[in-house]
Amino acid sequence: KDEVEPGSNEDLPPGLQRELDRLEKLFTVDTEMLKKITSRFGEELEQGLQEDHQNIPMNITWVTSRPTGHEQGTFLTLDLGGTNLRVCLVTLAPASRPNIMQHKFKVPTHFLTGTADQLFDFISSSMQEFLDQHPNHARGWSGNAPLPLGFTFSYPATQERIDHGILQTWTKGWDVKGVEGNDVAEMLRKAIQKRSLPIKLVAVVNDTTGALIASSYNDPETIIGAIFGTGCNAAYMEQVSHIPKLARTRSELNSSTTESARLLDDEGLMAINCEYGAFDNSHAVLPRTLYDEIIDQDSPRPGEQSFEKMSAGLYLGEIFRLVLVDVRDREGIFRQKTSHEFISAGKHGVSSEAKEAKEDRKGLDDAYALDTEFLALIENDHSPDLVESRLRFEAHLHHPQSLAPISPSHNELLFCRRIAQLIAIRGARLCACGVSAICRRLGVNKGHVAADGSVAIKHPHFKKRWEQAVAEILDLEKGRVELTSAEDGSGIGAGVIAALTLKSDSYNGQ
Ligand code: BGC
Ligand code: MG
Repeated sequence: KDEVEPGSNEDLPPGLQRELDRLEKLFTVDTEMLKKITSRFGEELEQGLQEDHQNIPMNITWVTSRPTGHEQGTFLTLDLGGTNLRVCLVTLAPASRPNIMQHKFKVPTHFLTGTADQLFDFISSSMQEFLDQHPNHARGWSGNAPLPLGFTFSYPATQERIDHGILQTWTKGWDVKGVEGNDVAEMLRKAIQKRSLPIKLVAVVNDTTGALIASSYNDPETIIGAIFGTGCNAAYMEQVSHIPKLARTRSELNSSTTESARLLDDEGLMAINCEYGAFDNSHAVLPRTLYDEIIDQDSPRPGEQSFEKMSAGLYLGEIFRLVLVDVRDREGIFRQKTSHEFISAGKHGVSSEAKEAKEDRKGLDDAYALDTEFLALIENDHSPDLVESRLRFEAHLHHPQSLAPISPSHNELLFCRRIAQLIAIRGARLCACGVSAICRRLGVNKGHVAADGSVAIKHPHFKKRWEQAVAEILDLEKGRVELTSAEDGSGIGAGVIAALTLKSDSYNGQ
């Protein structure tokens, strides 16, 4: 209901129109449904704070204060993201913008399903390469003391203290063997020792906590740090007295935990990494479609991350593909082929990007053949006769036997655009539920949600749709709870958290 695109009043053939009507019903999440989801969300947030092993883990991060903006020092940070490993040297100094020097290393894709040793050795060799390239910077600040390291690890981890983190489960399609149930800090420390690197791991940080702290460093109106990217999740500051499971931890656990925990004040704060991608794993409220179920069944961890699988960037393109496969099988769309000349001649304005892409064209039946960027492009095509969309299809997809590019008709393209829009709107509206539930918990009705991630940043309509949905859920004027763009969470954020850790009373530098 949010926008009328050119061509959307053109008639579709009856078969496609029927499909469209069906899919519109399936993917539309109205205000009432949003409110129902959000109130259930609130309950699951609370359950996660009460006890371990609930749907939403509500992980304790040991980040116990907001930054003042006066933190200082030089820190190394690591960000283990989906495709890249980023190593940064961050310098925080009074009254100036943080200085960042960084390198990106491409994580070989087969590492994502490889072994722990392979992964951690890759990380330490990348850090070594970085230090070798910047010997003076890395040494200059501290004499012989090792560089403090903040490690952004964007997966759910149980932390008994800040320099420790046991991986609960891999998410976002990762499946590195031998890491789940183990301490990633320890694995990283061993890999660092093996190479005798002058680095000391001081903090393991989730990307959402990094976004929260990096943004709070500059913007006091920050209430939540959120990622709407390959995965989805958020972090916020909770009052210690509202975290019953932490009180139990304080009385039961081992001495190092107790040391950190003992110093906590009931009036104090604790950043909580919600890990709300796992919302509704018990399937109580989310309006899951057949397509969502297929995604879950075919994923490496069926039954996990139910909410994430309906709303995050890794999955939106795949939902789109599954819909198209279904409609093709029923309505026989995408029969039209294009001669190879059309692409190679270049007469029709084929971009060089499209020409390159044709080398790795996939079939519509190949899982994850279409990504969120593809979805965004189809949705935002304003070219005459949707020629851009057609070229994209031709560049990305081929027919199974002939391998000739798939070249959708004009009607099929109109249909695809509407489907892409329905899926993206549903995703943005669902994303609003988690954050609204946190706002309601905190009793806030204005402020900044500092967001990072490919969907938040690259999808042109995300912000508008998300803010609209938050306003509907919380009965507020649109934009009072505003989506802002997060400051560099895995660089500045992890650096500031390392600084806060070194400064804190409980830091005993083990
Ligand atoms: C992970 C979270 C992370 C989020 C965004 C999820 O799959 O479990 O730890 O914050 O993705 O990157
Ligand atoms: Mg990331």
